[in-house]
Amino acid sequence: MPQPRKILVIGGGAAGNAVTILLRRAGYAVDLVEAKDDWNATAGSGITLQGNALRVLREVGVWDQVQASGFGFDSVGITAPDGTVLHVQEDLRTGGDGLPATVGMQRPQLQQILIEAVRAGDASVRLGTTADILSQDADGVSVRLSDGTEGRYDLVVAADGLGSATRAVIGITDKPEPTGMAIWRISARRPAGVTRTDLAYGGPAYIAGYCPTSEDTIYAYVVEANRDRASIPAESYADEMRRLTRHYGGFWPEITEHITDPAKVNYTWFDRMLVEDSWHRGRVVLVGDAAHCCPPTLAQGAAMSLEDAWVLAQLLTGSDAWDDALFQTYYERRIARVRPVVEASVQIGRWQLDGVRDADVPGLMGRTMTMLRELP
Ligand SMILES: Cc1cc2nc3c(=O)[nH]c(=O)nc-3n(C[C@H](O)[C@H](O)[C@H](O)COP(=O)(O)OP(=O)(O)OC[C@H]3O[C@@H](n4cnc5c(N)ncnc54)[C@H](O)[C@@H]3O)c2cc1C
Repeated sequence: MPQPRKILVIGGGAAGNAVTILLRRAGYAVDLVEAKDDWNATAGSGITLQGNALRVLREVGVWDQVQASGFGFDSVGITAPDGTVLHVQEDLRTGGDGLPATVGMQRPQLQQILIEAVRAGDASVRLGTTADILSQDADGVSVRLSDGTEGRYDLVVAADGLGSATRAVIGITDKPEPTGMAIWRISARRPAGVTRTDLAYGGPAYIAGYCPTSEDTIYAYVVEANRDRASIPAESYADEMRRLTRHYGGFWPEITEHITDPAKVNYTWFDRMLVEDSWHRGRVVLVGDAAHCCPPTLAQGAAMSLEDAWVLAQLLTGSDAWDDALFQTYYERRIARVRPVVEASVQIGRWQLDGVRDADVPGLMGRTMTMLRELP
């Protein structure tokens, strides 16, 4: 019997985990290497998963767990800074009618669910390990791992995130660029009345929002212009976040009460990147943030990363010829969908930075979400 093809996945985030699960299920031998010793040391408090992300998670086989541990809802509220609800918009169910428009989740929960599915699929996992591409030819890639071992793979999937070292090694020079905004985030107790995302535009921050992530928790965030990170001492993070949130009404006073521990507050700049040229070199192919990233104004970064994993796995399992034509098809299918998402996500932030008051944000969101309802 011929040996199954061997694939190395570099990076165990959402994209790497999803592609590992799908490729293992198809019968390939998959090695996954993750740089962190603690695979679930994820930064950030919560994540908003739109229907199109949920559709992939259902394909991956973890929808039941996601549904059980997250908080599903179908609308978004727009409020004034004082908390007055100005408008409630029904969200489009981008994953189809069988899935909610949105599920909020605690990031570590999502990661844990995916980790368990990778383990159950019996992939070989090495934590605290990175990989160097040594050479490649038409049939495969030679790799040295940081534990000193060397291997030969039919394919390397680079899922090593925004700062992807693999992207640079294969000669793709694109790098993330700041969009000019930054976000303060924290996980907090869910006020009883918070049952959907509410967003306040205006006030001292560009956006103040929260999203329920379980029966008991929410994540709350405020977006402002980015500042030199070195000028903000880590021990002042809670004070910095409260400086913005204390001006907001509605549920914010209750949320603000919990913003006390600076270690629980995360500060991150928004970045933008889109690899415009093809996403592979020979038998090394990029997925997820390694290929693209966008500010979370549409909450689509992980969704796009999961879709990459699904589409790549479909193409690999549908053809024996793992050649330029196949990887070009992957790129063309993905870029047609990712480009408008990146552009719209950046545009929404740009309008705010430029103080454009009559921008058609709902129109742009509506058009983008309608496109995302289509299968990737
Ligand atoms: C503030 C903020 C809020 C966001 N909110 C949302 C949201 O609400 N909804 C949404 O859909 N998206 C959101 N996103 C985007 C989302 O977080 C990312 O798009 C998604 O996590 C990308 O997944 P990934 O697997 O491609 O990369 P990552 O999650 O970055 O995973 C990469 C993995 O590779 C590992 N790694 C790195 N280098 C190496 C190496 N050399 N060898 C081995 N392993 C390596 C890393 O340790 C990491 O585990 C947000 C992003 C930000 C910044």
